[in-house]
Amino acid sequence: MRSPDVRERYPHLVGGSWTEPVAGEYVETVDPATNEPIATVASGTAADVDAAVSAARAAFPEWRDTDPVTRGQRVHRVAELIRARRDELAAIETVDQGKPLSQARSDFEGAARYFEYYAGAADKLEGESIPVGTGQVDFTVREPYGVSAQILPWNFPGNLFARGVAPALVAGNAVVVKPAPTTPLSAFHLAELCHEAGIPEGAVNVVAGGGEPGGALTEHAGVDTVTFTGSVPTGQAVMRAAAEHVTPVTLELGGKNPAIVYPDADVEEAVGWVATAIFTNAGQVCSAADRALVHEDVYDAFVEQITAIAEAYELGPGREDPDMGPLNSEAHRERVAEYVERGREEGATLAVGGDVLDRAGNFVEPTVFVDVDNGMTVAQEEIFGPVLVVVPFSDDDDPVEIANDVEYGLTAGVFTNDVRRAHRDARRLEAGNVYVNKWFGDTNQTPFGGYKKSGIGREKGFEALDSYLQTKNVAINLERGLGDDLPGA
Ligand code: NAD
Repeated sequence: MRSPDVRERYPHLVGGSWTEPVAGEYVETVDPATNEPIATVASGTAADVDAAVSAARAAFPEWRDTDPVTRGQRVHRVAELIRARRDELAAIETVDQGKPLSQARSDFEGAARYFEYYAGAADKLEGESIPVGTGQVDFTVREPYGVSAQILPWNFPGNLFARGVAPALVAGNAVVVKPAPTTPLSAFHLAELCHEAGIPEGAVNVVAGGGEPGGALTEHAGVDTVTFTGSVPTGQAVMRAAAEHVTPVTLELGGKNPAIVYPDADVEEAVGWVATAIFTNAGQVCSAADRALVHEDVYDAFVEQITAIAEAYELGPGREDPDMGPLNSEAHRERVAEYVERGREEGATLAVGGDVLDRAGNFVEPTVFVDVDNGMTVAQEEIFGPVLVVVPFSDDDDPVEIANDVEYGLTAGVFTNDVRRAHRDARRLEAGNVYVNKWFGDTNQTPFGGYKKSGIGREKGFEALDSYLQTKNVAINLERGLGDDLPGA
């Protein structure tokens, strides 16, 4: 079913103009609740990427040289426009991505916050003055890279557009956005709002399609920095392609995030946090709590309570705002179903769920595997669905060691009322973000990113600006004549 705000056809958006794909090809994007088409979207190629990168390169000097106060005001205006159109954007996202309407609304409130937060930084991107003696003045300036490529995944399409585009623009870069092929729509609508807010039209471009335009962007000589969110194998391909022109990359590649529940925790609260942290957006969240490590003293209570929550979840199309919507694509539904089968084969016990619903769309039941060994595939690999694995531990085990025993390191949580244990574990956990007695503790203001295979660099917070600014040091001689300066001195 098409939302009234979804258009029938989306060409690329290049330099502010709707631009036909060079190869003339279009694909359909479908509603994951029915798998019926909702719109036709351009299928990009390297030639379309060339056009978008040229438009961004042409717009870059004007945007870079826009005075910082004006730049900040325009970026702030984007936040206001997103807020004003929040419900319209949420309705579009819901039919394209599948998530419940209230979660989509929350995504766009977060998107507005990114533009608002970074807008305030535009006139505060200061360099330093470095004391090198009286014969020389030395200072640094922070300059934008130029063209930032933003390659988006399909789990939080609109929100992650804002997470990358807002700091890139505030720093003075122009952007080319490539949304995921199954969730392209919100990127077009957000880019239009950027233009409406007064950002130069060529400074925000959208090229739709899959791996081909994604690959073309990362290896393009005209792209100066790449921000990618998605899977580890694609992230590795991005890194390899970016090496050609020594283009810096920021990678956010998911996780297999442990929630450690100690016997002194408030178990009911811990269960509530973990349930939200694994079933929100049907588990398609890189920071989801997908691996609960639960002490044997509270294990039965934990399993009983989380099973009851999972059983009570209502599934339905996102537009009806159920507890949980469908998975984003048929292919992903099959992938998740294969993981559930793998868990069964490896000897994990299914406490609840595990089935694909016998109805149209990509619905998978909220699923909890218990008695899981941390070495099993379902405890090691990112399933990216509503599938929690529960691993028991005893006083003889070190749960932090079990928690760290995966290739990932994005988020981790500790549930305990012992302040010493909380601090000790937070220090030892190999993760970019640690939550104590809560989950999703990161905000727009706090840095977010991975240890180990979960990624490189940080999104969010002030630290994200480092991905969009390079430092130039300027040394000015105040003395006449030749000095005795030599390299390395
Ligand atoms: P993916 O990594 O293949 O795709 C992410 C983005 O990269 C998409 O826009 C895609 O079109 C683009 N892309 C594909 N090939 C590319 C290439 N060679 N060069 C540049 N860009 C390219 O992810 P997926 O296949 O859609 O999802 C698979 C798995 O990825 C999921 O099941 C999940 O485990 C993980 N994932 C993680 C996140 C996250 O937030 N970290 C988000 C989405 C998916």
